[in-house]
Amino acid sequence: MVQEFSRRELLVPGAVAAAGLVLGVSLSAEGAEKAKTEKSKTKKDKGKAKAEANRCVVVWSEGTAPKEIYPNDINGAIVEGLKDLKGWDVVKANLSDPDQGLPEALLNRADVLIWWGHKKHDEVKDELVGKIVKRVKENGMGFIALHSSHFAKPNKKLMGTACTWKAYVTDSTTLKVTVKSPEHPIAKGVKEFTIQHGERYSDPYAVPTPKAVVFEGVATLKDGKTDPSQVGLAWEIGKGKVFYFQAGHETNPVFFDVNIRKIMSNAVQWAAPK
Ligand code: ZN
Repeated sequence: MVQEFSRRELLVPGAVAAAGLVLGVSLSAEGAEKAKTEKSKTKKDKGKAKAEANRCVVVWSEGTAPKEIYPNDINGAIVEGLKDLKGWDVVKANLSDPDQGLPEALLNRADVLIWWGHKKHDEVKDELVGKIVKRVKENGMGFIALHSSHFAKPNKKLMGTACTWKAYVTDSTTLKVTVKSPEHPIAKGVKEFTIQHGERYSDPYAVPTPKAVVFEGVATLKDGKTDPSQVGLAWEIGKGKVFYFQAGHETNPVFFDVNIRKIMSNAVQWAAPK
């Protein structure tokens, strides 16, 4: 669910709220009013326990997607797609937020971090990258890298390889996504589907051998030719689970697609530490 926290619930990750980092969590007028009038200690404790029991996924992006496709940026569309996740707090984080969207209290609370970046990879501080990688390897935080985030600093550091694709070409029209590992939790309930997608990445992808290739795909080019490639790859790195998904070019409304949203939801639940 995308929570409308009461003010008290927001105070649970105290430092986060104190730093004014409500991020994408919407504090509704109703919620604020409720918080104001909420006096019972029992209620307060119940709210606190509930927020602490919830798992937490942080959806981060750099804020460069075109507004006409993504009015609330790519992470806004992903957050919306995760609103039905029960027992989860879904938090939107942006590069432009204080601490680049990931203050320590939030990073330490996150069970899963979803990442979309493209033009501003270099702006992400190495110190933050180190903390993210540590959270994954040592504490089991899940990490999900999307599309051009193959070159995101945390993704490269986790993979330990160049993370290059053979080619990146904006000459395609569609991407047909096929399920390669139907038994994998990320593929649950997902059947073959096709999306509009104007940019293809060509194999090989310079990463360690994944534990599973969950999805493959075939891009159809404007001239009718086709280009097959890996689309969804899963690893276990240290104590953490990592998933990379190739689709997600910013000029296509990929993250509003019902199939993609299913995959995002499945991936969050799979990547969370048990
Ligand atoms: Zn792209």
